[in-house]
Amino acid sequence: MANNNIINSMNTMSLDDPIEPERNKSRKDYLKWNDYFMALAFLAAQRSKDPCTQVGACIVNSDNRIVGMGYNGMPTGCDDNEFPWGKSDSNINHKSFYVCHAEMNAVLNKNSYDLKNCRIYVGLFPCNECAKVIIQSGIREVIYLSDRKAHKLSTQASKRMFDASGVKYWQYTPEKSKIVIDFSQDMNSSNQIIEEKE
Ligand SMILES: [Zn+2]
Repeated sequence: MANNNIINSMNTMSLDDPIEPERNKSRKDYLKWNDYFMALAFLAAQRSKDPCTQVGACIVNSDNRIVGMGYNGMPTGCDDNEFPWGKSDSNINHKSFYVCHAEMNAVLNKNSYDLKNCRIYVGLFPCNECAKVIIQSGIREVIYLSDRKAHKLSTQASKRMFDASGVKYWQYTPEKSKIVIDFSQDMNSSNQIIEEKE
């Protein structure tokens, strides 16, 4: 009897269901593509062990498929606890000799044949070394959040190379200023289901 009721109610359900009209409509508060990819770049940055600067990058193709992710870190085999993270020394213990930037790692981590016509989302405007990698990889668009190193020669060199090679770059202002991932919300709701069953 109970099953019949369920079947009957499913048969009569339509998009205009007056009982629960809101549940039949798509959410309006979903993440837009640009916010989504920039947020993923920021999430990747959380993996960085650099005590000062954590940067993430997310590469996306023209179908909005993610084809590469990266964050700044030491090369494989270079122990995070043995290699230097500081830059106060002018000797061999300067981190810039060793750290692979997010953009380079994202390009090298690609899961597609090539990155032609892709775009890259990155928290900070790429340095000149990453700009070279971006251009050579075939990426055609750079979407960045911060340009706080605009005064540095390396950033100016990046822009000079991007301009010459026709790589588009633009500063992104997120639609949502804050995106919260709260695992406890889902954990609590699954506990609730178990409690309801019991
Ligand atoms: Zn770089």
